[in-house]
Amino acid sequence: MTSKEQLIRLVRIQRVADNLRQAESVVAAAPAKIDEIEGRFRERNAEYVAIKDRYDELELDRKTRSSELEVLEENKTKYKDDLMQVKNQREYAAMLKEIDAVKAQISEHEEAILRDMEEIEKLTGELATHEEHIQQEREAVEVETRAVEQASTEARRSIDRLTAERGELENGLPAGLLANVRRLEETRRGVFLSKAGDGTCQTCYVRLRPQVYQEIKMAAAVHTCGNCRRLLFYEPGITAALAEAGGSPAEPAAPEASAPADGGVEAVNGGAV
Ligand SMILES: [Zn+2]
Repeated sequence: MTSKEQLIRLVRIQRVADNLRQAESVVAAAPAKIDEIEGRFRERNAEYVAIKDRYDELELDRKTRSSELEVLEENKTKYKDDLMQVKNQREYAAMLKEIDAVKAQISEHEEAILRDMEEIEKLTGELATHEEHIQQEREAVEVETRAVEQASTEARRSIDRLTAERGELENGLPAGLLANVRRLEETRRGVFLSKAGDGTCQTCYVRLRPQVYQEIKMAAAVHTCGNCRRLLFYEPGITAALAEAGGSPAEPAAPEASAPADGGVEAVNGGAV
């Protein structure tokens, strides 16, 4: 593979990598976004939420106590049976004490359940007054949440597709070059490539030796910036070659938006060299 072909691949890999990072951030941000939607709902409907939370709390208490009550009733029956089996006065007194204790627990539960039910009835009425409004609010939350989930699902699909695409683009590139790319990605926030222009690295603006700059312009070698260590390419030549090749399917709209204008002007210079 020629240096120019390698550089074309690297430019395409950088684009794919940028899109991958973008897609990964969409997936990563989704849970917090959904929490935020839910949080805003709770904020907007604080009064309703307070009533609903209390309602849920009471419902839970009522259900828990009801099932506990069943166990207590069973215990009471068992103790009463046991009472028939006692052998002396001391055992009899002890058993009566158990029965009294369980009876007290039963009545405590029964009273609490009754209180729960009274309050539940009152809150049911209050919730009903909010119902129509909350229905609309819930629908809005669902629409928003679904949009976030859908974006996340699409981003996941993009990640799969882009990962495969990157694998294909890396295929055939020298292992040392790829290792360098990965190292740079880790230390340079994913940006391993830099444009060269006006005799400088266009990322850190360090001046390049004229000889090196010429080679970069002609795509005769893959050079690294002596300062930021990024791999350097001369955009007009590579962009033209990419356009001839039909471009990459993962071509992003934004980063390349200014390229045609730049490329047009600089191509004149490039041709004169
Ligand atoms: Zn640099």
